Amino acid sequence: MGVSVADAAPASPELVHPELLKQSGQREVFCGLTSIVWLHRRMPDAFFLVVGSRTCAHLVQSAAGVMIFAEPRFGTAILGERDLAGLADANEELDRLVRDLLERRPEIRTLFLVGSCPSEVIKLDLSRAAERLTSQFNGRVRVLNYSGSGIETTFTQGEDNALLALLPLMPSSEVSQLLIVGTLADAVEDRFCSLFAKMGIEAVRSLPPRRSTDLPAVGKGTKVLLAQPFLSGTSRALVSRGAELIHAPYPFGVEGSRDWMAAAAAAFGVDPALVAQVLDPLVERGRRALAPHRKVLEGKRLFLMPDSQMEIPLARFLSRECGMELVEVGTPYLDRQLMAQELALLPSGTQVSEGQDVERQLERVRAARPDLVVCGLGLANPLEAEGIATKWSIELVFSPIHGCDQAGDLAELFARPLRRRQLLAFS
Ligand code: SF4
Repeated sequence: MGVSVADAAPASPELVHPELLKQSGQREVFCGLTSIVWLHRRMPDAFFLVVGSRTCAHLVQSAAGVMIFAEPRFGTAILGERDLAGLADANEELDRLVRDLLERRPEIRTLFLVGSCPSEVIKLDLSRAAERLTSQFNGRVRVLNYSGSGIETTFTQGEDNALLALLPLMPSSEVSQLLIVGTLADAVEDRFCSLFAKMGIEAVRSLPPRRSTDLPAVGKGTKVLLAQPFLSGTSRALVSRGAELIHAPYPFGVEGSRDWMAAAAAAFGVDPALVAQVLDPLVERGRRALAPHRKVLEGKRLFLMPDSQMEIPLARFLSRECGMELVEVGTPYLDRQLMAQELALLPSGTQVSEGQDVERQLERVRAARPDLVVCGLGLANPLEAEGIATKWSIELVFSPIHGCDQAGDLAELFARPLRRRQLLAFS
């Protein structure tokens, strides 16, 4: 289930820059609770307790249903009608529930209390609850809190908030290290670490780590390499702790992945000849894997609705490496600093839009009749019914798509719906 929020701001679009369309109005996007689905897989010793309603519980469970899990590491403390009406002491009930949970699950090392629309509406102070519970459990478990509420967050911002909650626990150190920030599939992370090691960069840490208690240090010697483009708050907070941000495109597609790794290598003063020696064979292989998908995608017209904040890097990959034509590239928020390298690589004149006024945007989709629309689950079915092929943006967060080795698989995710339509047209 997603959230539909009508902003108080005027609905008329405003052209701020020849190519940037600013929009505000009704938006159609998942809330930040969704990020629990990939975060709990990354940190198996953590537990995510949503403090919310049955709707929130349903959202997390149905989003998780997209993938198969052996043992759920998330749950929902349901705020009942008495809590919402202020008749019950929600803090007492929350404490009791957390005590029960931690007795049953002694292996939990970090407990995230995740705020939702209902907990926000009744102004339940989860940061105080987290402090209170941490001291009650005497350090046996660390209780943290962040917001995944649909009033404040879109789905990838949930990860940004979760990492921000971990940040104060990261020790300070001036040791020289590369810090990869943003959830990666474990196998992809291992691959990047082995490539960096071949280039002589051995001290590589990740945030979030695989174990919630094994947090990396941060300080003057830390160089931050963002693996995901939606971590504005976290990157700013790391810089305020002394870290340096490496400016690079994001590691999607062959070109982006190569430039991403090369930017890190340059920041550590690695000889460009060694970088080429390590990366050139990957680039070659990645391009070969892309070729069959490029045949399907080339010349096809693409419309990206604002959803995951991954739209601009994906548009860059799909236009430059797969030959797609960009009709409109939507993004929920545009962080110009984090997107500078990506924007520079888009074809000149690309229509980028920030924010959403969903009805107007759908009108533009219908008028343009693109070959493929990348959008959230809520918009995919109606567009498919109108004969427009769609790709669910949420799959892009769940799938291992980073790196030169994954470029072919990434292109395939977009080629698949087009191939399916072709088959249907012939049957
Ligand atoms: Fe819906 Fe808000 Fe709960 Fe998200 S946090 S599922 S938007 S009620």
